[in-house]
Amino acid sequence: METKQWVVDKNQHNLESYPQIKEAANLLQADEVVAFPTETVYGLGANALSDEAVAKIYEAKGRPSDNPLIVHISTIGQLQQIAQDIPEQAKSLIKKFWPGPLTLVLKRKENAVSKKVTAGLETVAIRMPSHPVALALITASGLPLAAPSANLSGKPSPTLAKHVADDLTGKIAGILDGGATGVGLESTVLDCSGDIPVILRPGGVTKEQLEEVCGVVEVDRAILEEGQAPKSPGMKYKHYAPTAPLSIVNGSMEFIQTLVKEKQHEGLKVGILTTTEGENKYEADQIIACGSREDLESVANRLYDVLRLFDESGVDVIFSESFPSEGIGQAIMNRLTKAAGHRIITE
Ligand code: AMP
Ligand code: MG
Repeated sequence: METKQWVVDKNQHNLESYPQIKEAANLLQADEVVAFPTETVYGLGANALSDEAVAKIYEAKGRPSDNPLIVHISTIGQLQQIAQDIPEQAKSLIKKFWPGPLTLVLKRKENAVSKKVTAGLETVAIRMPSHPVALALITASGLPLAAPSANLSGKPSPTLAKHVADDLTGKIAGILDGGATGVGLESTVLDCSGDIPVILRPGGVTKEQLEEVCGVVEVDRAILEEGQAPKSPGMKYKHYAPTAPLSIVNGSMEFIQTLVKEKQHEGLKVGILTTTEGENKYEADQIIACGSREDLESVANRLYDVLRLFDESGVDVIFSESFPSEGIGQAIMNRLTKAAGHRIITE
C-alpha cells in the first residue's frame, strides 16, 4: 500500500479547510487508516463507527484484539452520542482538562461505536485532544476516531512523524506530519465508571492535578506493584521496549559506571540513559541525555525518541538512571519500567 505523507503547520488558522487535512479526512471517511499528531504522541486514526476501519488499525499495528482503543472526539456532542450516565466528577474533569491529555473510561451507549473499539467491554475510553491538527482532522472527517499510538505493538510510541514512517510505511494510507508532539507520553487513562476514579495508566495529567478537581483518586495496584493483574487490558502487554535489554538502576553514578565496565569486560557495547546533568560524567559506548532532572517534563518529552535512538546506536545493553515517581515522574517510571521488562538493579 502507498503511504501518503503530508506536512502541515499546526500554527495555521482554519486547518480543517487545508487540502492536506481534507485529503486525510476523505481517506478516513473511506475507512482507511491515517496517522496524525496529538499533544501526547502520534495517533493511528480510523472511523470508530466502522468494524472494517477499526480492524485495519489492529492489523497495521499487530495489536492484540483484546486491547481496546481510545475514541478521539472534537465536540461534547460526540461524547454524548458515545457515553451514558456520565458522573458529575467526570464532568468537572472534562471542564478542567479537555481538550487535553486525559482519557476517561465511561459507560458506553449500546452500538454507538464499533465493538472492535471496546474489545467487548461495557465501557468506552474517550478523549478530546488539544493538538490543532488532531482537532481539525476529527472535525473535517465528521467522525469519532478510534486511535491508539501509531507504532508497531511493543515498540516505543511515536513522538515524530519519522517514528511513524519507520514503523508503518506501506501498512497505512497516510501520515500527517505536524512536527514533534508535546507531552511525549500517552494520555492519563482514568476509569470513571465506578464510585472512585481510578488511574489505569499514568500520563500527561498527573494524579495531583486530578485530585485538585475531584478529591480522592486511586491508582490501579498493577501500576504500583509488579505481579498484579491490571484493570486496563492494554497494560499487561510488553511495551515501549528498545531492542537491547534495558535495566533501570537505583543507585549512584559510580555504581552505574561499575555496571558499565563489567559489561564492557564481557565484550558488550553499553549504552547509558541519563540526563543533561549526567551526560559528561560517564564513560560508555553510547551516552544519551533524556531531558533535565530540573524539568521532568523535558524527560517525558524525550523518552520515546531516546529509546528509539538506542536501537539505531547498536548497543548490546542499556542502563538507565531512575527518576522520582511524583507528578509526571509517575508516568515516566511506569513507561521506563515496562521498557525495562521490570529489570531494576538496586545498589
Ligand atoms: P493506546 O491506544 O496505545 O494509547 O492504549 C490505550 C489504553 O487505554 C490501553 O492501555 C487500553 O487497554 C486502555 N483502554 C482503552 N479502552 C479501555 C476501557 N474501556 N477500559 C479500560 N482501559 C481501556
Ligand atoms: Mg500504545
